[in-house]
This record gives sequence, structure tokens and C-alpha cells, in this order.
Amino acid sequence: MALAFDEYGRPFIILREQEKKSRLQGLDAQKANIAAGKSVARILRTSLGPKGMDKMLQSPDGDVTITNDGATILELMDVDNQIAKLMVELSRSQDYDIGDGTTGVVVLAGSLLEQAEKLLERGIHPIRIAEGYEMASRIAVDHLESISTKYEFSATDIEPLVQTCMTTLSSKIVSRWKRSLAEIAVKAVLAVADLERKDVNLDLIKVEGKVGGKLEDTELVQGIIVDKDMSHPQMPKRIEDAHIAILTCPFEPPKPKTKHKVDIDTVEKFQTLRGQEQKYFDDMVQKCKDVGATLVICQWGFDDEANHLLMQRELPAVRWVGGVELELIAIATGGRIVPRFQELTTEKLGKAGLVREKSFGTTKDRMLYIEKCANSKAVTIFIRGGNKMMIEETKRSIHDALCVARNLIINNSIVYGGGSAEISCSIAVDAAADRHPGVEQYAIRAFADALDAIPLALAENSGLPPIDTLTVVKSQHVKENNSRCGIDCNDVGTNDMKEQNVFETLIGKQQQILLATQVVKMILKIDDVITPSEY
Ligand code: ADP
Repeated sequence: MALAFDEYGRPFIILREQEKKSRLQGLDAQKANIAAGKSVARILRTSLGPKGMDKMLQSPDGDVTITNDGATILELMDVDNQIAKLMVELSRSQDYDIGDGTTGVVVLAGSLLEQAEKLLERGIHPIRIAEGYEMASRIAVDHLESISTKYEFSATDIEPLVQTCMTTLSSKIVSRWKRSLAEIAVKAVLAVADLERKDVNLDLIKVEGKVGGKLEDTELVQGIIVDKDMSHPQMPKRIEDAHIAILTCPFEPPKPKTKHKVDIDTVEKFQTLRGQEQKYFDDMVQKCKDVGATLVICQWGFDDEANHLLMQRELPAVRWVGGVELELIAIATGGRIVPRFQELTTEKLGKAGLVREKSFGTTKDRMLYIEKCANSKAVTIFIRGGNKMMIEETKRSIHDALCVARNLIINNSIVYGGGSAEISCSIAVDAAADRHPGVEQYAIRAFADALDAIPLALAENSGLPPIDTLTVVKSQHVKENNSRCGIDCNDVGTNDMKEQNVFETLIGKQQQILLATQVVKMILKIDDVITPSEY
């Protein structure tokens, strides 16, 4: 410990602990940070595009996930480095805002860092690089706007939307079945969309999965599916025109708690207590019947005795239904969640045309379908598949497809994919660099080079010679003034992405460029890294 004085003469103590911290300053700090960011991007690079590889990740408790969704890979990777965490955050932001393009955004950021490293080595100050990147990103975003086109579709003509979702799904494991999954996703989004107000509430789409069956059995249910069954096997499996009481309060006879003292010393007393308990519950059941409920869905459980009574009194019930599901059921059926039993009234009941229990295969697994709901807006995508990993990956892929369809409804501008938008931006940014006389022009040019990373990665992952392919496509852009040329990953025979029907939403692509630039600028501005060193 030592005593020191600051510039105003105030004393302060320097603790020895500081010595245990390691510190990187200046260029070293920037280089270390860039290296960390690049290494994360390198992992995702091979996952980009329709021919991208999948990653297998094992969690500490042995759960295995196979995916090629950038956000998921990074989420599950246990990264320790702070800069690497920023990249994880970057992918998450893209996922949160747009839902697609999570791999691309990290690859782009990695490439921007790589280019920045070269400039730093040439002695250009990080702030100048950051400023140059900022200018370039604005040029790129404006250029995207200029090459974007409107994508026309309507509630009756959903084919264009389906095509877009298929592009998203084509790079996923489920690509074999992309057509029907895309159709399901689009129908689901349209069911919850308000096309006039350009508003989509994705919360109303429930994605449920169950192991078993084939991926082809995946279906869209116009209603809600709950992974539960009727509480008693002898209750009806099918209820038409159901009036549903949705309870979050206990639904069973009151139980004496351990802190209550009940002296039962005679058989009569016991019988009275039992009788009272039964009557209490009987009254509850009667109350449900009085308000007109034909089905009770309850967040809490009830014991076998209550269950038996319910069966006897012919009031079907479902127990242990989760909070999120209850909320969805309430929205779909137009009912209200009842938190206190006394508040149950006829108006609070939800209405569904059909509630049925469906069993699967030879298993005892049953699920509850709540269909023909009063508010038909809520829908469920029910995914089937051979194993849990497949179902989880399908869920993630469907999520991406849903987001793409939603983005198109909110804003129907698109740019073409397969790296064509990036190449076009790269050319535009490169040309703009000449108009800037300052040092920034180097950074702007570097930004243009960084944009090439996407088509390069797409070509490399598809087994094409990256540099040769990019050169040919780029010259096509310039010669033919055609901004739709991209990388022909699937060897279709044309690299016109319009013909291949490969496009992405304008807002998604713009967001990728803006987010990646933001993070890279942030990393470049760090010139001091203090970390607790290892003992
Ligand atoms: P992300 O998580 O970033 O969406 P993907 O692995 O889904 O990553 O890859 C998306 C990239 O692949 C986009 O640049 C898209 O344009 C491109 N892409 C998708 N399908 C094709 C295709 N059939 N041909 C060429 N490029 C494609």
C-alpha cells in the first residue's frame, strides 16, 4: 500500500491489489481486442449461407444443440472475453430487432475489425478509422435504400412472402422441408397481422414442439395447443362450444396447514371435517357450473380426491397449465384470467368452438387442442420431429422465418441476397472514398473491402474459389450495372439473385451494417484494458 497525491493535492491510497491486475494500453489493447473479436467472427464464418456448416454445442449438463443460427451459437458458447461478449451482444441485438441475419452481422463486424487492424498497423489513429467507418456505413445504408425494391404481396397472394421465408430457411437444417414450413410461417403471421396498420404481434404465435412423428407432420393450428391432458382419464376427450374458466387460484378443498391445530379425537369429528372439506369443494364446482363453465383450466394442481369429484360432477378440468399458456388461452378465447375464485363470473369465461384431447402414436402422450376460439387471432405452430435437437432447431428456424415475414409486412422493401447487396455497397463505398480528401478515405476504402467478406464467405462455404468468384461477380456489377448479381451458392446456373428468388429485407440488411459498425467503433475506441490477472 502506498500514499500518493493527485494533481489537486488530495491524498489517495494505491492498493497493492492493483498490481495483480494486468493492463494493456494503446495499440496493444486495440490489437488484443481486435484479435478477440475476430476469433468469434471466425467461428461463425463457416456457418454463413445456404451451404454453411452447423455447429454442435454441448452445455455443461450434457445437453447437445446442433444449429447454424448465429445468435444461438454465440448464446451457447461460454465466452469469457469481454470483447467476445460484445460480439455475442451484437448478434443478440440483430436477433432482437430483426430476427434474421445474426450470422452475417458478426462476420461483417469481424471483417471490419480485420481491416481496421491493417490501418492501425499503418499508423492511422483509431478515431480516424472510427470516423471513416461511420461515414462509410452511412453511404452504404443510403445505397441500400437506392437499390431496394418494393415487394408486392397481399393477404390473398401470399406466394411472394412464402418465397422470402424459403430463402431464410434454405440455410437451415430444415431446408429439405422449407416450402411447407415457409407456408406455415406465413399463414401464422398473416393470422396475427393487421395489414392495414402494418402491425404484427408475434406474441400471439405459439411455437410448440413434441418429439415423435416426422417433420412433415408439422402443422398450423388455428388456436392454442397445450402440452397437458384432462386431469381424469374418464373425462370427455372432446368438448364442443366450451366455456372455459381460466383460474390462477387454487381449485381444491382447503387443506389444514401444519401450523393449524385441529384436534380430531373421534370418528364423528373426522367425518364432519371431511364432509366440510367436500362441501367446500362441491360449492366451488357448483359455482363453476352456475356461471356456465364447461371446462376449467387451472394453473394449480388438485389432488386425486378433488379430481374424482370433478369427474363425478362432470366438470372436465386441466391442471398445471403454465402462466404463458394461460395468458395465450385467455387472449385466444376472449376470457379473463381469474386470480380469486370469488371473482369468477359468466363474462370472464373464455369461449372456444372445440376443445379436444389428441393422443400421439402408441405413447400415452396427449395434448390439448383449443380451437375455433372467439378471438381467432392466436395460432400455434406445432412442430414434430425425430428428436429434441431437431425440434429445437426447427423452432429457431421458424422463428427466423416468422421474423422475416413480419419485417416484410412492416416494411416491404427488399434487397437481393447472396452477397449481391454487399458487393453493390462495396462498389458504392469505394467510389465515395475518392471524394474524401482526408485520412478517412483509407478507412472508407477499408470498409468497402470489409463488405466483400460476406460474398467471400458465401463462396468459400459453397466450395467455390472465393476470390475468383467475387472478381467475376463484381465485374458483372460494374459492367452490366446490375446490383442483383450474387454468389450462386447452390449451383443453380445463374447468379442473378432475382431469378433465384434470394432476397432479404432492407431493414434487416441496413441494421446489420449499422450494428456491426457501431460495435467496431466501440472496440476501436478502447485503448486501455485492465483485467484481474490469473493467479
Ligand atoms: P444469417 O444468420 O446471417 O441469416 P444465414 O446462414 O441464414 O445467416 O445466411 C444468410 C446469407 O446467405 C445471406 O447473405 C443470404 O443472402 C445468403 N443466402 C441464402 N440463401 C441463398 C441462396 N440460395 N443462394 C445464395 N445466397 C443465399
